[in-house]
This record gives sequence, C-alpha cells and structure tokens, in this order.
Amino acid sequence: MEQDSKNNSLDKVRSHLQRECFNKLFIGGKFVEPIEREKLPTYYPATGELLHEFPRGKANDIHAAISASERAWAEGTWAAMSAVDRAKIVAKMAQGIEDNKEMLAEIEAADVGKPFRQAAMTLGGAANEGKYWCSLGKALDEEQDLPVNSGGGKGGLPPEEWNVVYRRDPIGVVGLISAWNYPLNVAFRKVCPALIAGNCAILKPSEIAGLSCMFIGKLAHDAGIPPGVFNIVTGDRDAGVALTLSPSVSMISFTGSSITGSKVMEACAPKLSQVALELGGKSALVVFDDTDLDKAVETTMKGFLTNGGQICTAHTRLIVQDNFKQPLLNRLKEELEKLPFCTNPITEKNRGDRAWEDGKTDVVQPVVCDSQHKKILGFLNEAKAAGVEILTGGGVPDEKVVGHSGGYFIQPTVLVNVGQETDVWQKEVFGPVLSVRSFSSEAEAVLEANSTKFGLASTVMSSDPARAMRVANRIRAGAVYATSTGEGILAEHPAVSRGGFGCSGVGRELGISGLHEYTELKSVNYTGFSLADAKIEDAK
Ligand code: NAD
Repeated sequence: MEQDSKNNSLDKVRSHLQRECFNKLFIGGKFVEPIEREKLPTYYPATGELLHEFPRGKANDIHAAISASERAWAEGTWAAMSAVDRAKIVAKMAQGIEDNKEMLAEIEAADVGKPFRQAAMTLGGAANEGKYWCSLGKALDEEQDLPVNSGGGKGGLPPEEWNVVYRRDPIGVVGLISAWNYPLNVAFRKVCPALIAGNCAILKPSEIAGLSCMFIGKLAHDAGIPPGVFNIVTGDRDAGVALTLSPSVSMISFTGSSITGSKVMEACAPKLSQVALELGGKSALVVFDDTDLDKAVETTMKGFLTNGGQICTAHTRLIVQDNFKQPLLNRLKEELEKLPFCTNPITEKNRGDRAWEDGKTDVVQPVVCDSQHKKILGFLNEAKAAGVEILTGGGVPDEKVVGHSGGYFIQPTVLVNVGQETDVWQKEVFGPVLSVRSFSSEAEAVLEANSTKFGLASTVMSSDPARAMRVANRIRAGAVYATSTGEGILAEHPAVSRGGFGCSGVGRELGISGLHEYTELKSVNYTGFSLADAKIEDAK
C-alpha cells in the first residue's frame, strides 16, 4: 500500500516533467535540444530510483546562449527600458512561481528529497522575494542621474561648476551559476536582480538537483522577456566552466561551494570580469548557560537539521558553556533519537523543516544524492578513525527504521569533544552532522566561533541582552543572530543584505546592495548645458 502511494506520487512528478521546459534548453527565447543531444540523470533521494533525464548542455550550447545574449545586449531594448518596466515583466515570473507552487514543490521534493511542506514554504518565499526585487525597480530608476552634490568646492568636494550625476548601468551579459539545495530560490535570487538591473543573463542550474529552475524558462517566455535576454543551459561542471571562461560574459554570479567559488574567481581573473560569490559556511551556535534549555535544544536541532543540514547557513558547530553542556547534550540525544525518517518527501505535507514551530513532529529527510551520501559518510568515518566521540547517530539508519531500502539517509549525528583542527570542525559536511565544543569564558566563546575560515552566519543565545549583542558583534560572519529564544535563527528577509566573510563569499545578496551587485556605478560629468535641456532632447 505504502509502496503504491510512493509509486503514484513519483509518477505524478514524472508526468509534470514531461513538459517541454523540463526537457530542453531555453536559448534565444526558444526551447531547443542541446547540440549533442546528451542527457543527465537525476534520482529520487528517498529511494534512489531514476526520476528524470534532462539535457546536458555543453560548451557549444553555452556559446549559443552567449551569442543570443550578446545579440539582445547589442540591440539594447531591455537595457533601455526603465527598471520599473522591466520589473513589471519580472513580476509576472514571480507570480508564475506562486501559481505553480504545488507542482514545483512536488518536483523539488522528488529532486532534492526535501519534504513537500518545506519545499512549498520556500517556493512561496521565492515568489515573495521576486516581488520584493520588483519593488526595487523604482529605487533603481530614482538613482539614475542622481546629482553628486558639488558642495561649492568646500570640504574637498568638486567646485560648483562641476556638474556630475551618478548612473547605475547594467553590466552586460552575465552568467548565473546556482546550487541545488534550494534550487529555484537560489536561481531566482540571481535572475530577478540581474534582469531588473537591465542585464542579459544565462542561468546554469546545478546538475545534482536543478529541475525546478528549468521552469523559470517557461515563466520568462510567458512573461514576454525579449529573446536572448534570458537563457537557461542545464549541464554539469563543463557548462559552468565554459560560462566563466567566456570573454563575452562580463560578470559571474555564483552560488556553490567555496572550492568551486575560488575556481570561478580564477577563471574570471584573466579577463578581470566581475564576480559575486555566495559560498559555503560552518556556522556556530554559541549557547550561554542562562539560556532556556528547551529553547536551546530546539534551536540546535533547527540550526543543524534544516533541509537535512544542506543549507549554507546550517549551524553545524555547537559551542556551549561548560556547565550547560551535559544537560543540553542529554536532551538533544533524546530528541534526535525520536525523529522519524521521511520515507516519501513528495507526500510529506505536514512534517518537515521547522514543523515543530507548529507543534508538530519533525522528520529527517534523505540527503540529495549518492555522491553527497558517500561524502558525508567519509567525514564520519574519518572522525571515528580520529577518535572523535559520537553522542548519537554516526552512520546509515537501519532499513527497518527507515521503512525501505535504497534511499540516501543518514542518521542525525552529534560529534562531541571535537578537536578544533579536525575536518568535521573545519570543513562543510553539508549533511545532518553537528560538531560540539565547549567554552568557559565569553572571550573563549568568541575565539571558538571564529575558529574556521568561513564566515557566513552564526547565532548567540543568552538571556543577557548585553552579552548576546557583545558576542554577536565580535563574530566574523555576514549574518549574525543574537537571541534569548532562538526565534528567527536562519531567517532571511529580502530587504536585508547578506553575504560571506572570509571563504564564505565575495559581495552581498538581497536588499539594494544585492541589486547594485548587478550594476556598474558610473559618473557623468556634463558641461555647457543643463540636465533639464538634455532631458528635453531625450524626449524628442
Ligand atoms: P558546487 O560548487 O559543487 O556547484 C555549484 C554550481 O557550480 C553547479 O551548478 C555546478 O555545476 C557548477 N560548477 C562546478 N564546477 C564548476 C567550475 N569549475 N566552474 C563553474 N561552475 C562550476 O556546489 P553545490 O554542491 O551545487 O552546492 C552546495 C554548496 O553551495 C554548499 O557549499 C553550500 O554552502 C553552497 N551554498 C551557498 C549559499 C549562499 O547563499 N552562500 C546558498 C546555497 C548553497
């Protein structure tokens, strides 16, 4: 019976995937076959069954997309429109996500292995975020021709007769390379600002799980984006490399691992093109002993288990005050061992990320694919060999506990007394694995939190507001949460810019700074006429 329901739900997703947009590249406003007609497979993480085969775009397809983009850029219609007008078109795409949320959530549940409930929540977030980006169209238009105050030559400023305005120009043809963990969200977070700023763009989604991103092509087509302004080439590393190396691509916006991010930067260095890099993390959760124990347990679980630990901001390092460590670990072990596994993410409508916020049980999802599964187990085996103590988990759950075989499941794992030099402390595992260390003083807590090369996010929990803020201010990370309750950990708002310190990235996403990443700031110095005269001429 359970097997039948699994087959039915998988068949339903496969039927969604029959649509043209999930089987072709989107280049020059048309859905086209890849030149070499090759395909790549993707599997259902809960069972390991083949889900779909999608086009494997290669360097020649990337070059075709770049040519289409270059033509659109040279023609100039898109860049010449106001940002508000461009945003009206992009808004239709955002609405399209909302309108197709259920189908897209089923696809992401089957592609990534995340519970439907969680996928639907985050896809709703992508649609709202898209609407937010569109609202920035007006702000961008208002920044055009903004006078630079001459200051009459005072205070080191240019003299009064110096008439200068600032403009924010689009960069040109831009490459958008995205990760698989929140496939559509990550991709759409690039597509919206790139297009609203007036660029022509080529999206290369992740080959591990990027099916939902292919729907953005259909949305662009239906919204009336001019041919070549937006293109999608699915494919693997080779397609990504071709995009980064092309001299015609003036900017790469990349979300993925820090190792690949540095390769992207290297590829862009000879041509000195722009890069925006959203990379990996190893976020710390610092817990002081004045924290409520229940809240600390809940926040720890949420921090490292959201999306199965496959989130860049996952709080995978717990740094707990010495005398609070044992009570916290005892409760954590107890709670983690109660968690059921998510055997069919596609139909998981009530459980999933943060379900406990609604008073429901949460559930452990499979990790995304076989190679990630092996990589995580490799980290665990290495930790065991190095003598790291395992509080709970540490491997693959028994098939009887999961309910079937073949899926990429890993037990929620807590490693204690972890050495600061070990890989499980220093490297991103990207799975349901938490490493624990303790501290005795505030200064030590800060040193522990800052003890990796990453700096994406971190949280401080204390019921003493002054202490929570003091420690938060000393943590080197792009997004820090200071909290007595744990509320809001991992939360994002589209108006709040974020990004990475150190190996977690270059540049900022979201907010007006996130939009500015896709523009070049230009000063225009004009003499011999007034700006008002120029505007009259412009209007003729
Ligand atoms: P990845 O680095 O393996 O791949 C990311 C993308 O880069 C894929 O589309 C891939 O095909 C492409 N790629 C691979 N090699 C390339 C190369 N040499 N040149 C150009 N493109 C190349 O990352 P992933 O496994 O897809 O994603 C997980 C990583 O993404 C984690 O490290 C996670 O922390 C990070 N991430 C960061 C954020 C953020 O906002 N900071 C958000 C989501 C995910």
